[in-house]
Amino acid sequence: ANPLPGSLQGLPNLRLIQSLWAGVDRLLNDPTLPDVPVARMVDPAMSAAMAETALWATLSLHRRFYAYAQQQHAREWQQLPQRRADELQVTLLGTGQMGRACAMRLLALGYRVTGWNLRGGTLEGLPLEHGMDALWPLLARSDIVINLLPLTAQTSELLDQRFFNALRPGAGLVNLARGGHLVEADLLRALASAQVSHAVLDVFRNEPLPSDHPFWSHPQVTVLPHVAAATDMRSAARIVVQNLRALRDAQPLSDLVERSRGY
Ligand code: NAP
Repeated sequence: ANPLPGSLQGLPNLRLIQSLWAGVDRLLNDPTLPDVPVARMVDPAMSAAMAETALWATLSLHRRFYAYAQQQHAREWQQLPQRRADELQVTLLGTGQMGRACAMRLLALGYRVTGWNLRGGTLEGLPLEHGMDALWPLLARSDIVINLLPLTAQTSELLDQRFFNALRPGAGLVNLARGGHLVEADLLRALASAQVSHAVLDVFRNEPLPSDHPFWSHPQVTVLPHVAAATDMRSAARIVVQNLRALRDAQPLSDLVERSRGY
C-alpha cells in the first residue's frame, strides 16, 4: 500500500505495481520506482466509506454538532441558530472516485454542492468548475470545503493562507486527502482569526500526529487518525485479482496512474 521508498528496486521480473491505497503520491515520489505500470485502488466500498466521513463532517459543521459537543463538556445549555441544508454551499475539491461519491450523497441531503477539478467536463447533477481562476470565486461563496484532491506538485500546500483568505468568512474545512495539501501554521492563523470556524482533519504532514501537536487540543479542530476511508480487504482483493488476471491474459489494466500527471 505505502512501501518505503526504495523497497521496489531490484525486482527484475516485476510487471505491475498494484497499490492497495487510492492515493499513490508516496509511491510516485520514490525516485527509484521501477518503470512498470502502477495501478491504484479504485473500490466503490472505499468511496462509500469516504462519503460517510464527508457526510458526518458536513452535517456536524452545518448543524454545529462539534460546538454542541464542547457545550456538553462545559455543561452549557445554549441553542445555536439553525440553517437549512439548501442554504449551505459545499465545495468538493476533486471529483474523482472519492469526490463524486461524496457529492452525490451531499446533493441527496439537499446541500448546494459544486465540484472543482482539473479538466472540467460534466457530471450528472453536479455543477463543476475547473482551474485556478475558477477556484477563488468558488471559495468566496463556500460554507464548507472538502478536500479530496490527489497530492501532486500542483496541489501540494494548496490549503494555505491565500486559500483561507479567499474563503467566505467562518467557513468549515474538511481535509480527507493528504496532509501535504495543508500549510498547518496558516490554518492555525485562519482559525485564530475565525476566518475558518472549524477544521476536520483526517490526514497530516506527519502521521501519527505528534502528541505535542497543537491540533490535538485545539477547540476548533477535530482530529481523525487517517480513517476516512480504509481499504476493505474483502472487496479490494477481488479488484486486485481482476487486474492480475488482466495482466496474465494481456488485457487492458484498470485504474492505471498517469505518472506524468501525478495521479
Ligand atoms: P482521483 O480519482 O484520482 O481524483 C482526483 C480528482 O482531483 C480529479 O477530479 C482530478 O481532476 C482532481 N485534480 C487533480 N489535480 C488537480 C488540480 N491540480 N486542480 C484541480 N483538480 C485536480 O482521486 P481519489 O481516488 O478520489 O482520491 C482523492 C484523495 O483522497 C487522494 O488524495 C487520496 O490520497 C485520498 N484518500 C484518502 C483516504 C483517507 O482515508 N483519508 C482514503 C482514500 C483516498 P480531473 O477529474 O479533472 O482529472
